[in-house]
Amino acid sequence: MEKIAVVPGSFDPLTNGHLDIIKRAAEVFDIVYVAVLNNSSKKPLFTVDERIALIKEITKDIPNVRIDCSSGLLVDYAQSKNASAIVRGLRAISDFEYEMQITSMNRFLDKNIETFFIMTKNEHSFLSSSIVKEVAQYGGKIKGLVPEIVEKALYEKFNTK
Ligand code: ADP
Repeated sequence: MEKIAVVPGSFDPLTNGHLDIIKRAAEVFDIVYVAVLNNSSKKPLFTVDERIALIKEITKDIPNVRIDCSSGLLVDYAQSKNASAIVRGLRAISDFEYEMQITSMNRFLDKNIETFFIMTKNEHSFLSSSIVKEVAQYGGKIKGLVPEIVEKALYEKFNTK
């Protein structure tokens, strides 16, 4: 049986930290769905379509990765893809409590879907979409923190380069 996983997130925009988690998940699972969440409580910089287009381009050479979006409950999305796993990245201690809460809720909603955590690499420990956006907004250096096309898209959005 194929092992299918979902890697959910806002990815607004995708950073090298996200990319590392997606690549590592793709080595363990047969199929990985990257689900761009259309989260109504956050005001995103990039539209879902823009985020999907960027991630598609960046992951085009990883054959078992599919890019998609989801706006409902994550467990419903996972069920619709026959996924038995949710994969999340874990950074500093600050991620832990939030992730615990979501994981236990998802387990309550569907006990057959297991959540797995992949520990971030040291160099990505303090990397987030928000901090990258903050710097790009003022035209600061973000090379090496995000893929090149994301770097370009960010400066274009903010008109800072
Ligand atoms: P969300 O809003 O759902 O947390 P994000 O796009 O911020 O979405 O993150 C998606 C996933 O990627 C989460 O599991 C998050 O912990 C993980 N993640 C974010 N930044 C990093 C990073 N620098 N290294 C590893 N994982 C990360």
